[in-house]
Amino acid sequence: MPRSTIARIDLQALRHNYALAQKLAGSARAMAVVKADGYGHGIRPVALALAEMAPKYAVACLEEALAIRDAGLRQPVVLLQGMHEAGDVRDCSAHDFEPVLHCSTQLNWLAQSESRPEFWLKVNSGMNRLGFRPAELPEVMAAIDAMGARSRLLGFVTHFACADDPASARTAEQTECFVRGTAAWPDLMRSVGNSAAHFLPDQPLFDWSRPGIMLYGGSPSLGKIGPELGLQPVMTLEAPLLSTRIVKAGEAVGYGSAWVAERETLMGMVAIGYGDGYPRHAGTDTPAAVRGQRIRLIGRVSMDMLAVDLTNAPDARPGDAVELWGRTVGVDEVAACANTISYELMTGITARVPREYR
Ligand SMILES: *Cc1c(COP(=O)(O)O)cnc(C)c1O
Repeated sequence: MPRSTIARIDLQALRHNYALAQKLAGSARAMAVVKADGYGHGIRPVALALAEMAPKYAVACLEEALAIRDAGLRQPVVLLQGMHEAGDVRDCSAHDFEPVLHCSTQLNWLAQSESRPEFWLKVNSGMNRLGFRPAELPEVMAAIDAMGARSRLLGFVTHFACADDPASARTAEQTECFVRGTAAWPDLMRSVGNSAAHFLPDQPLFDWSRPGIMLYGGSPSLGKIGPELGLQPVMTLEAPLLSTRIVKAGEAVGYGSAWVAERETLMGMVAIGYGDGYPRHAGTDTPAAVRGQRIRLIGRVSMDMLAVDLTNAPDARPGDAVELWGRTVGVDEVAACANTISYELMTGITARVPREYR
């Protein structure tokens, strides 16, 4: 029997969250961002579950786009980083992938190829990771005209740095910069908006928005948890209770003897650790749940195990399923305890943990 450490994936919740993204996007259409193996949920089942709803997918790289084609899906797939080498241009055109070109090297690959995929241009409106500055666009457009690729250009893409913070003025500044910088080409489409931008009042999302984390139930907004935004958790991470024991006052638990019992305490060991992707930085007091009761971690997370305080769940028995995150304990809460974001937790679940779909 395999150990019952498992990530249960609720595909109905995924569809609920996509429907919310599409509703919040208003007149824009929402391309489903399924990079990083569907944020750790499995790109193939995630893409298939959204097949009737999502008019487009977005991924980081060609391999991910090919996984969508392997699943038998025909929707266009946006490659958010464009091509990674010259030969990718041909694959894009053969498979209806839409690369987002962000630099002159990629433009040269396109110019030198006989293939002509449809494509987008990345505009750097202030994130300063990738993209052409607005001032460079006239020259870029001239180069595209010169290579005879103008009819294949779908439009402009930009990405927000601070949309998770409604109090930040940056998103409005970036939007303004993007609108001004692309105003000369009103016939082309525009794509802005990670998940967080869907929750900003009065934020225009133009033609295509790009929700990712919200599809999986993680909160994109600072200080909020997913359910407060109407999102349903998609992943429930569970592991079995291996053993229970009573530690006496003054006894220490786990590596570094990092936690010492102040009083006699019923504790348990759970069969999950950082080798499964559970964050090692989740310290004492990180929440978990068993038998519907919230409990807390104690001491250091090991590779294959972690310790919990069962004071709140005295009836817990070996074999019981412990929820590390899901409906009782929000992934955003665990992320906050580990000083990270739900994105890192979900994408970090390792291949040792089987995914089960419902
Ligand atoms: C990952 C990504 C998204 C999705 O972001 P979320 O915060 O997960 O919604 C959108 N656009 C680009 C360019 C991305 O890289």
